[in-house]
Amino acid sequence: MMDPAFCTASGVLGAILGSFLGVVVERLPRWMREEEGAGNLLYPPSHCPACQHRLRWWENIPLVSWLMLRGRCCRCRSAIPLRVLMVELLSALFFALSAWLILDLPVLLALWLLWCGLLPLAMIDLRERLLPDCLTQPLLWAGLLLNLHTHLLPLADALYGAVAGYLALWLVYQGHRLVTGREGLGYGDFKLLAALGAWCGWQALPSILLLAALGGILGWAICFRHQENDNVIPFGPFLAFAGLIIFILQHAIFTF
Ligand SMILES: [Zn+2]
Repeated sequence: MMDPAFCTASGVLGAILGSFLGVVVERLPRWMREEEGAGNLLYPPSHCPACQHRLRWWENIPLVSWLMLRGRCCRCRSAIPLRVLMVELLSALFFALSAWLILDLPVLLALWLLWCGLLPLAMIDLRERLLPDCLTQPLLWAGLLLNLHTHLLPLADALYGAVAGYLALWLVYQGHRLVTGREGLGYGDFKLLAALGAWCGWQALPSILLLAALGGILGWAICFRHQENDNVIPFGPFLAFAGLIIFILQHAIFTF
């Protein structure tokens, strides 16, 4: 079991990074659509989207501020989206829990990096049906570099993982289009699976796909069944979740 102080510090780090990831989720799609005033990731400073009130430092503390303000802007009282709290809370819990359970520090750091890539991808795909290249591609390169500089996987496995990950979903896409005449997956999905192949190796791809498909079916049954556009369920969140689970199972040495 890791030191409680280390777990707490990890949780705080998770909340801070989660807060930044939340900004990425809010701004990156707008920035990609070149919306007016979308700015970049650092500018303009955090503000209320309803009244443009610029947040003071104490309104911008991860978790604490949302709870203190009870989820409302302190000037115009418009609701701050719950997802702002969720992304901070999820990251804090994930960092604290993984710091508590996982003994191997390099694996822990790699896992946190993977989280910082996958969480915004999953959330942007949920909201916008989009997996931006500017997130999937660095994630792929990071996976290859990780396996170049550590002994988690042989580099060849990671390289073939990236290629096979892309090809596997590309083939599914082409097959699906041939049979149904519709597009079932997006190119972002291929790139995300390529990135997961680079992180987890080609051997892990069947498990990732199986887990993601099971999650997808379950998610569809629970959430998306009643939506009219049910043929465009985002697959990215399920791929991201599956990749994270498989990476943990592959490499983590647990406390217990
Ligand atoms: Zn406001």
